Order: sequence, then C-alpha cells, then structure tokens
Amino acid sequence: MRHGAEPEEKTESGRAFSIYVHIPFCLAKCGYCDFNSYAVEGLIALGRAGEDWAPRYVDALLRELEGRCRALGLEGRPAETVFFGGGTPSLMPPEENARILEALRGRFRLAPGAEVTVEANPGAADAARFAALGGAGVNRISIGVQSFDDEALRRLDRVHTGEEARAAFRAAREAGFGNISLDLMFGIPFQTAEAARADIESALALGPEHLSAYELTIEPGTAFHALHSRGELRGLPDEETALAMWRLRDRLLARAGYERYEISNFARPGRRCRHNLNYWRRGEYLGLGAGAHSFIGRKRLWNHARPDAYQARADNPTAGEEIIEDAAKALGEALMLGLRLKEGVSLGEVARACGADPEERFGPLFEELRGGGLLERENGTLRLTPRGTLLANQVLARFM
Ligand code: SF4
Repeated sequence: MRHGAEPEEKTESGRAFSIYVHIPFCLAKCGYCDFNSYAVEGLIALGRAGEDWAPRYVDALLRELEGRCRALGLEGRPAETVFFGGGTPSLMPPEENARILEALRGRFRLAPGAEVTVEANPGAADAARFAALGGAGVNRISIGVQSFDDEALRRLDRVHTGEEARAAFRAAREAGFGNISLDLMFGIPFQTAEAARADIESALALGPEHLSAYELTIEPGTAFHALHSRGELRGLPDEETALAMWRLRDRLLARAGYERYEISNFARPGRRCRHNLNYWRRGEYLGLGAGAHSFIGRKRLWNHARPDAYQARADNPTAGEEIIEDAAKALGEALMLGLRLKEGVSLGEVARACGADPEERFGPLFEELRGGGLLERENGTLRLTPRGTLLANQVLARFM
C-alpha cells in the first residue's frame, strides 16, 4: 500500500485550517536545538516523567483537545493538514500517534487527501513503526537527518550515524510512503563547502519529495550558545564559506528538479509542505501539546512549555494569549511570514485579509528595501530578491 498525501495543487485551498500536535520527547538533546524538546531519560531521572510517559502525555493531549474544541467552537471544522512535530513524534509507540489521529478524526472533518505528517529521527525510525503509522493514516514522513557525515553528526550531538539516516529513509519507502521530506543542515562546525556538497548529493541520491536545508544558527538557551558566548564553539564556517554553501545548495537542488519555494524549503512539483504553507500564508491553526501555539480568528495563544506543567493543566494549558486588534500588527505578520515564500505576497490579498492597506503602513519601507535591492514588486506582488533572501532575517525583522 502506498501512503502519500494528494499533490498539493489538487486540494490546497490557500485558506486551510491546520492542526499541529507537539510531541516534546527526544532520545537526547542536540547541542544546537532550541525547540521545546527534552531527553526522555533526563525527564525520568528528574522525576518529571515516568516510564509510561507516552500514554500519559497523550491522555493529557486528548483532554486539551476536548477543552479547546469546546472553548473555541472548533468541533466539526474541516482540517486540511495535521502535523506531528517535536521533539521526536516517531519516538512514541505508533499506537499513541494513532490514538491522537483517531481523536482528531472524531472532532474535525479531515479533508479527503489531507496531508498528515509525522516527524521522525533516525534511531526512532524502523519499518514496523512506519508501517503502523501508515496504517493509522499518516501519509507524509519528515526525517531529521541534518548530515550524512558521522563526524558532523557527533559535533551536533546527534545520536545516529549517516548510515542510520539512510536506513530510516529506506524504511519509510519500504513501508509505502510516497511523500518523504529530509531535513539537512549546513554551516556545521568544521564543515567545508565540499562536505556540504557531499551531504546534499547523498540526500539527492535517496530521491526525497521534499528537502529542508537550513543554515545552523546559534540560538539563545542552547548548549551551542553557551559555548559560543565563552568563545569555545570552534570551527564555524566564515561568512564567505557559508555564502558558498547557500549558493551550492540552491544550484544543486535546482539542477535536480527541486523548486525552492521558501527560504530554506525545496520540493518536487506538487510536493510543497501544505501544513507549513498555511503558516506562511497566515492561515489558522490549532496547536496541541506542550508549548504549542494556536492562531484562531484574531487570537494567538500558547501553552505551558514543560511537559509536566502542561500535563498538570491539560484541561486548559494556556500560558498566554494575545488578540491581534491592531491592523498594522496583522499586516506586519502577514508580510513577515508571506515574504518567506518565493511566490511572495499579493498586496491586494493581504489588504483584504487584514482590513488595512499595506501601502499606507509600510509604503516608505517597501521603497527603501526596493532601493536597496532587497525587495521586488511585480503586478501588485511583493517578493524578496535573491540578495533579500540571503539577508532575510534582517529584512523581515523590519516588519515587526
Ligand atoms: S532530535 Fe530534533 S527536536 Fe530533538 S533535540 Fe535534536 S534537534 Fe531538537
């Protein structure tokens, strides 16, 4: 049996409602990782989780689901994508992922051909597990590979080898998945441009439908950040090498038939990630689980991050919320998110969605960025130039 979400062009509405499920558990914490994720063994050692961490967490998540549906009036709403992210969702016994999916089907109308993704990491990614996920209705697997070079993987504190990453991909294919994404990283300490090329070529040799290829960034709160602040994180590529890696990535992937549709995301035709497209188009989504964020109507809300704190308050785990009343703020968000996409942002659509004219609020900034060669405009659509894409973080921050 082949599992693969319908190619996006057939079912994408552009105004989809998505569901995100956060599973915050991992085998170990990677040094660069600033996601809300925890090594399971560490939680157990601290007494913050038991051996039955997975069913207990899912029980809490289902309580949250019930409470959110009631409080936000979501029952019966059509949903076009479900994304299990983490953490390492594939670390849970697959029947726990299945239990969540079944509950979601009971509450929402999952569209036929809905994209249902589970993130997996090598080390928690065998054929039996993938087959069970496929049987439960998952049709897209996203594998966190980062690199195929064992030395680079060790430097990132990853707990798997390059060969295990290849085996994870093959296991997903053997289990019938026709829609697989790989995450790659470049700019790893001591990585050369040649090593980055070898990683991309190894990924291409597997033939995934989708690739996310990110440059390593040093985020506050991570082990890498602590090392970096003490001047002890050695071997980070200089700016010139990092730039060469960006260009190499874009060239190799384009030549292999992958379209770069977002700053760091590439897909074969029809295989863009519909779930993430909905975020970038400022669509609505319900986020369930520890630290998950939701955006419904004009309300953004987020959950307690620590799994034990989340589980203790699962009926209403909200840690904070904000109503976006200000049209200028809504416009800024829409531009900051939408400009990540290569297709850019239609100013007319943004004006309709936010109820305000982007020209009025940001006209002078558009002109300044166009003058600097960072933005371009064509038939009412605004997009980053190649130079703007390289400097995306700085450019997009101007819309905050
Ligand atoms: S496996 Fe992924 S989520 Fe887990 S610690 Fe490593 S980078 Fe973070």
